[in-house]
Amino acid sequence: AGRARIVQKFGGTSVAAIDRIKAAAQLVERAVAAGDEVAVVVSAMSGTTNQLVDWTRDVSPMHDAREYDVVVSAGEQITVGLMAMALQSIGVDARSWLGWQIPMETDEMHGRARIQDVKADEIVKRFAHGQVAVMAGFQGIAADNRITTLGRGGSDTSAVALAAAIKADRCDIYTDVDGIYTSDPRIVTRARKRDRITYEEMLEMASLGAKVLQTRSVELAMNHRVRLQVRSSFKDVPGTLVVDEEEIVEQEIVSGIAHSGNEAKITLVRVPDNPGIAASIFGPLSEASINVDMIVQNVSEDGRATDLTFTVPKDDLARTMEVLEGAQETLGFERVIGDPDVVKISVVGVGMRSHAGVAMRMFQALADKGINIQVISTSEIKISVLVSDAYTELALRSLHTAYGLDAVYGRGRTEWTSSRPQRSSTVYGHAAGIFSAPSMQSWPAP
Ligand code: ADP
Ligand code: ASP
Ligand code: MG
Repeated sequence: AGRARIVQKFGGTSVAAIDRIKAAAQLVERAVAAGDEVAVVVSAMSGTTNQLVDWTRDVSPMHDAREYDVVVSAGEQITVGLMAMALQSIGVDARSWLGWQIPMETDEMHGRARIQDVKADEIVKRFAHGQVAVMAGFQGIAADNRITTLGRGGSDTSAVALAAAIKADRCDIYTDVDGIYTSDPRIVTRARKRDRITYEEMLEMASLGAKVLQTRSVELAMNHRVRLQVRSSFKDVPGTLVVDEEEIVEQEIVSGIAHSGNEAKITLVRVPDNPGIAASIFGPLSEASINVDMIVQNVSEDGRATDLTFTVPKDDLARTMEVLEGAQETLGFERVIGDPDVVKISVVGVGMRSHAGVAMRMFQALADKGINIQVISTSEIKISVLVSDAYTELALRSLHTAYGLDAVYGRGRTEWTSSRPQRSSTVYGHAAGIFSAPSMQSWPAP
């Protein structure tokens, strides 16, 4: 023990009911008793924010974004007060802080605002008197004096921003799983818990759909060198540390597999194959603030018309269809098809930079299960494919096995260990080369 300064963030399931709030308060009390200076950040009770979002949509799909933020930020006002009370009732001096009271200053992008500055002097002053600060996550205040929210899952970002502002030694994210796994442990039962993961990999995993941390929170932690730990509020075991690349001893080639169901596929049938056509299609979408992600354009058979397929966020599907249908005459395509029943599955690893054959293994594993790949996109450290969402579980589990990530419960052990078979020399096709790299020796035979 000693006087460390820490931020403890409790997610929705960790404050889902009064007994959970009391259990979280015990974790805070333990740190205070050890002599730490503690700032607590809370989410809304799980389910609350979804309910609030639904209500705003029921009133009007085209509602005022500033009023949306007034409504959806309300869940955190409840838990922040209850948490302060729970702490007081076990003898811990604590007070609640709403975003505007800190203030947590953001830009004016309502619904997905970015934090610009955190004025945490008062909180730090009160640490000296032994007071715990309990801050509402997810919310802030813009220059126009209106409440903002930080996008779904934004309490992680509130916690990291506060940790950076008070120069905390650590930021602990308490949630319903005991760390960051090689894949979503709720779907891939053989997922393996990581002791450590690099900021870069976690950033990629988060932006590709692993919602255990909000993408922006990882970005902030990386830029401000905040020591992040993801751990369980249900089980007292060490969690996963998010660290610099130098702090990882043994780097694996594939570190994780993420999925995102928040994608929809758009196909434009028979688009005229002229120069400038891509610009004239994606221009209007970008003007409508619709983010186009994966894109594939087929070769035209007759040199005149081609099919163009791309993905947009599922929530933007209706708007995308509207924009495109409105521009059909000018763009000259034959038909537009929208398909929400897709999932994006991504294999992530910084080690991919220096190793070939990683993509091949993905394609082969999916082919073996008869899963059709609709779109592919790659970057230096990830490969993503779009497949029918009916295959979400099968694809995730098969890939997890194919990359040798599966865990087995070791005999006489209390922790998960890896089940990677011996090196094999029987490999398929041109992927053979990858097995000569020393770090590949732990991969299973295909
Ligand atoms: P909280 O309400 O505490 O913020 P979230 O639901 O936002 O919790 O995030 C935790 C969830 O993230 C887990 O229950 C798990 O299903 C999901 N998840 C997705 N990918 C991963 C991963 N790679 N490792 C751990 N959890 C993951
Ligand atoms: N309550 C907010 C949400 O559900 C923020 C969070 O939980 O991180 O998105
Ligand atoms: Mg979350």
